[in-house]
Amino acid sequence: MMNAAEFGRFFLPGPTEVHPEILQAMMRPMIAHRGQQMVDLLASADNPLRELFCTERAVLVGTCAATGFMEMAVRSGVRHRALCLVGGAFGERFAAIVDATGRDVIRLNVPLGNTIEPDMLEDALRHSDVDAVTVVHSETSTGALAPLQELAEVVHSFDDVLLLVDGVTSIAGLPVLTDDWGLDFVFTGSQKALALPPGLALGAASERMVERARRIPERGAYLDVVAFQEAATKLQPTNTPALSLLYALIAQLDRIAASGGITARWDRHEAMRKTVEEWISGRGGELGFGYLPDEDRRSWTISCLEVPQGRNGREIAKAVAEQGWTIGSGYGSLKERTIRIGHMGDHTVERLVALLDVIEGVLR
Ligand SMILES: *Cc1c(COP(=O)(O)O)cnc(C)c1O
Repeated sequence: MMNAAEFGRFFLPGPTEVHPEILQAMMRPMIAHRGQQMVDLLASADNPLRELFCTERAVLVGTCAATGFMEMAVRSGVRHRALCLVGGAFGERFAAIVDATGRDVIRLNVPLGNTIEPDMLEDALRHSDVDAVTVVHSETSTGALAPLQELAEVVHSFDDVLLLVDGVTSIAGLPVLTDDWGLDFVFTGSQKALALPPGLALGAASERMVERARRIPERGAYLDVVAFQEAATKLQPTNTPALSLLYALIAQLDRIAASGGITARWDRHEAMRKTVEEWISGRGGELGFGYLPDEDRRSWTISCLEVPQGRNGREIAKAVAEQGWTIGSGYGSLKERTIRIGHMGDHTVERLVALLDVIEGVLR
């Protein structure tokens, strides 16, 4: 098994590298999922999860990919029609799920690397009769960070419109103030900034989200926000949970608390974003790299970089892999034009600097 000294070469934008201590924590025997031990286990995660999500509400934990909770957001939160903010592949996925579940979808599109701004959202909401808005906070396919707090203010100025947020690469990596910003549903997956193995989805639902869901009879069964909320409030799982992943989650929540808490985690991610920005204004820029998103709209967990003229993102990622390191190539239509560095989870500035050196090395 890999030891801690070797940690920090796997910069994929999900799944992210899992610390050996976390892998170790999973090697525990099973327990009954309807017994006191299960209640105790979920009780130990209860407060740390509320802190992680910046909410007073019980956090919902499900056994599925993050896309499962995206579907739950739609089935439980959209009555008839949603306005979907689309600036990349995951925004489009949200819209496609609205469509696939028989609701009407209105897409508000911006070019890749851009974000929908509050005035655009306000204008769109004035001209369309929708009952929910979907938004991806940190669009992992482009590295763009939506101005979520401002967008939420706009949504709240309209009556009875819910805000459904994909926080998959923002929760645990940068500030997401669920209660203060009034997010009706926000979710993430275990394999992103939480740096756990894939397989858990985590989310928080507002009271009005749960109330709305109660009045949508065809909202489904396995991924029903009402069932999740009731179970979470009683410190119960909905169905047999991925127990080993819950062991990993508890170990990770302990590690987060021991290393300064959630704000220290945000700070480390911000420092990583700044490290890439400094590299772009220095040696990386000299080599011809540039940022895809504008300043002030860059995710703290993922950097999507345009590659130098005449170079190819996929080939750069391959050359980096030959050195024993992993980064993401571009996503979809950006495959050739960009590379993506997933500096989230348990990564550090120090290892990121080492990675940037490797990238320089393969280009020279
Ligand atoms: C990874 C990712 C998803 C999908 O996560 P899965 O666990 O694969 O379903 C959704 N949204 C964003 C922004 C992501 O980065």
